[in-house]
Amino acid sequence: MAELITHYIGGRFIESARRFPNVSPVDGTVVGEVCEAGAEEVDLAVRAAREALAGDWGRSSPAERSDWLRKLADGIERRFDAFVEAEVRDTGRTVRQARTLDVPRAIANFRFFADLVRQAHTECFETVTADGGRALNYTVRKPLGVVVAISPWNLPVLLFSWKVAPALALGNAVVAKPSEETPSSAFLLAQVAHEIGFPAGAFNVLQGFGGNSAGQAMIGHPDIDAVTFTGASATGAHIMKTVADGVKDVSFELGGKNAAIVFEDADFDAAVDGVVKSSFTNSGQVCLCSERVLVQRPIFDRFVAALKARTEALALGRPDDPAADIGPMISGKHQAKVVSYFELARQEGATVVTGGEVPVFGDARDQGFWVRPTIWTGLPDDARCLREEIFGPVCHVAPFDTEDEAVARANDSDYGLATAIWTQNLSRAHRVAPRMRSGLVWVNTWYLRDLRTPFGGVRQSGIGREGGRHSLDFYSEITNICVKV
Ligand code: NAD
Repeated sequence: MAELITHYIGGRFIESARRFPNVSPVDGTVVGEVCEAGAEEVDLAVRAAREALAGDWGRSSPAERSDWLRKLADGIERRFDAFVEAEVRDTGRTVRQARTLDVPRAIANFRFFADLVRQAHTECFETVTADGGRALNYTVRKPLGVVVAISPWNLPVLLFSWKVAPALALGNAVVAKPSEETPSSAFLLAQVAHEIGFPAGAFNVLQGFGGNSAGQAMIGHPDIDAVTFTGASATGAHIMKTVADGVKDVSFELGGKNAAIVFEDADFDAAVDGVVKSSFTNSGQVCLCSERVLVQRPIFDRFVAALKARTEALALGRPDDPAADIGPMISGKHQAKVVSYFELARQEGATVVTGGEVPVFGDARDQGFWVRPTIWTGLPDDARCLREEIFGPVCHVAPFDTEDEAVARANDSDYGLATAIWTQNLSRAHRVAPRMRSGLVWVNTWYLRDLRTPFGGVRQSGIGREGGRHSLDFYSEITNICVKV
């Protein structure tokens, strides 16, 4: 019997008549049934959130909220295996990744913001007035109010908790929605909240789709105060237009078309390993993945050959196969999108170094949504395949000659999320890194995250920064109080 995934509103699990299937991307089987929220459930959730703000939750201290966040983290830890299972069931990712990255990071997100909010400080200035007297200026930090949090499917519990944890830490009431593709871990988090007696209405979870469904009703609700969103740039633009009339606060983590630059002085093996990781982690379904790889000409041929060998050694496997490196695309729709770029790349004149096809397994996986890791060369910089985010296990490798050329070509994008630079020349690393038009630059590594650091993109990759004190700033309002003494 497939599990029914419900909403969690005002401390109660609530069903809707509208339902949709949860489909395993591994083999296309239906693994659950999910309730779909509409305007009615969204309104219930926003009201419950308002009531929580008017009640004990609204009067809670940072220390009390810190304790709640710790309890949520402990609750996830107690149900670690269930969270792993939920992530694997919804996404087809490897059990190894869910155990080592996704679920531990969700726990870390709650613990991190539990600690940070206890240390959050405000400003205080003594002002000399015109009459020679004194005034004291100090700031108080208050919640924004009802925060809508909408997250994508690629790193479900990691990104969901990355928004929910700081929003709650700062005393907001949250109405959150995971992607329709990955409902399970958010539902489990609601169960954890329920088990620990989390204040009713402070944390609400709605299930459903984006446009013409739960997501649209959430962003269109007149009584919300802010939207924190991670997803596609086009969706971000739509959300911005929708909330513009109400002048609501937004924080957007959006798409990327990230470059990796490999200089001839790089540690060759480390750079090859790094590019394999940055292009194919989570089957290329990470906003930070490198889809454009620029390699300095003297090492170009050797680099492409080594990258091809390493990529062809990646094993496409079921999540519980310990040898598996690569899982499927999230859905049939997304698989079709990635495959459409295989065709487009051929039309645009790409040379297929490896991949570019849907694998045939001869087993149930043939009903799933798999693609082969793919490397192209030979495309011009203005090819659509090099300008549009594909979000699959795909990269294009191009040669460059000079440092200036590499910087200019890497920056030539509508996006600006992350750049990875591979060089052993310290001066070059420090010279090039600040020239990148991206919110994040990694040198000789990729995806190394310290939760205290700012995270976000420029141009169509996002608005604002989250992470550490930047999250404190987004999820709160500051009032300055000036007292003449
Ligand atoms: P998406 O924009 O289609 O959906 C993301 C979420 O928004 C889902 O929960 C969806 O239901 C909801 N949504 C869609 N339309 C909506 C609408 N009209 N109103 C309200 N909500 C709506 O994105 P996706 O396909 O789930 O995720 C992939 C995208 O996310 C990629 O572009 C990727 O780069 C980006 N991403 C960015 C980051 C980052 O930190 N910058 C991290 C992960 C993913």
